[in-house]
Amino acid sequence: MRFTHTIDGKAETSERSFDVINPATAEPFAKCPDASREQLDRAVASARRAFQSWRKTPLAERRAAIANFAHGLAKRVDEIGPVLTKEQGKPLGQAKWEIGTSAHELEAMCKMELKPEIIRNDGKHRVELVYHPLGVVGAITPWNFPIILAAHKIAHGLYAGNTMVLKPSPFTPLATLLMGEVARDTLPPGVLNTVAGGNELGGWMTEHPGIDRISFTGSVPTGKKVMASASGTLKRVTLELGGNDPAIVLEDANIDEITPNIFRGAFLNAGQICMAVKRVYAPEKLYEPLVEGLTKLARAHRVGDGMEPDTEMGPLQNKMQFDKVMNLIEDTKKHKDVRITTGGHQLNRPGYFIAPTVVADATDDMRLVKEEQFGPVLPVLKYKSVDDAVRRANDTRFGLCASVWTNDYERGAEIAKTIEAGTVWVNHHVGSEADMPFGGFKESGLGREIGMLGLASYMEPQVIKVPLRA
Ligand code: NAD
Repeated sequence: MRFTHTIDGKAETSERSFDVINPATAEPFAKCPDASREQLDRAVASARRAFQSWRKTPLAERRAAIANFAHGLAKRVDEIGPVLTKEQGKPLGQAKWEIGTSAHELEAMCKMELKPEIIRNDGKHRVELVYHPLGVVGAITPWNFPIILAAHKIAHGLYAGNTMVLKPSPFTPLATLLMGEVARDTLPPGVLNTVAGGNELGGWMTEHPGIDRISFTGSVPTGKKVMASASGTLKRVTLELGGNDPAIVLEDANIDEITPNIFRGAFLNAGQICMAVKRVYAPEKLYEPLVEGLTKLARAHRVGDGMEPDTEMGPLQNKMQFDKVMNLIEDTKKHKDVRITTGGHQLNRPGYFIAPTVVADATDDMRLVKEEQFGPVLPVLKYKSVDDAVRRANDTRFGLCASVWTNDYERGAEIAKTIEAGTVWVNHHVGSEADMPFGGFKESGLGREIGMLGLASYMEPQVIKVPLRA
């Protein structure tokens, strides 16, 4: 299979290329073209040209074009799914789910409308608030959910009237390049350009004078670099960054019901989800049953190559992430009072596989609790009072998501309001919905994507004040 950039509606390759590794084998399986600076410049120039007519295209037509793109994506799920599994590692069923859900969300996110508003009409003046697209959006995505994260950016970015240059992670560029092929067939040239390359390409985008807004999803350290670089041209920026999501279990929770849901929230995609459960706080009374339940599920979880039909969890996506998680496990083992009730080792096979790991009697000072593990290793902590649990949950620079698990939903909602996180679920964890703005408190990000706030973030508000004749 040959993978190409999409620039100005046409396929392009590059002089240079790089290997894409299958994390289930640790072997390269495909070559990806490595875009040059000149190719980025042409992609940006094409997006700027396309912006002139795309911004004037009636909203209903833009919505229809994006729906057409979504249908084109859904039609190719059987072809793109295996590519996503091979480059990312996730089980094929989950890869296909990601593509199918992306198609669905592309359409769902274009149902809302940011309408102009009369903010004053007092007989002397009419004051209107209207919205304009920003221009060219530079979208930069990470390697854990390359398709759905791109879909969110494409949906509102284009729907708002902007055009886009999209750059995937060098670890998982291929499925995104296939998305570019769909754009070639369904959108006017230049409206959506896809270019692959290394981290350097991301840096060229954030400083590029022809790009007006950056939509970045990735790690906190890179997010800080993006913000610094974008300041040179005062680009609008949204940063969707890492998390260290707490799940707080209350005494009245139904342990049999919640345990599988917490497990899923922690181990889906081998724990490589920004909004995964990354630490669990449980009261004394439920502590042992919860640890036992999570341990049982972890032991039964089928880990393997995502192309094998029975696989429930794949490998870590890359060697760097594998080493990081193994290093956290080694550090955990130095704390003599903790219990690793299952896992705690890599699998004896090629590829970046780590056994699902549950860590009981974890303490606040452990790196596994303080840092974002982004892997299949879950610490479970004991708490004495709910206030104590909330204080410890908030004692972090992260603030992406959190959850409260209880039978008393309204009490759960009240506790949720005391947690410093962009999304807090009651009796649920993980997921995004077209009408729910998503983003983080503190160092988990800046701004919101998705929902009305997300749509507004792709537009510039403008005030028009008109005198009225008496
Ligand atoms: P990363 O920050 O290493 O890379 C993300 C993207 O940024 C990649 O495309 C990369 O090539 C690019 N990049 C790297 N250096 C750059 C630079 N200097 N300028 C511009 N772009 C640059 O992140 P990752 O390791 O790919 O992803 C994992 C992280 O992403 C985790 O921390 C996770 O929590 C976070 N994440 C957040 C969300 C969210 O919505 N909040 C969603 C998914 C992942």
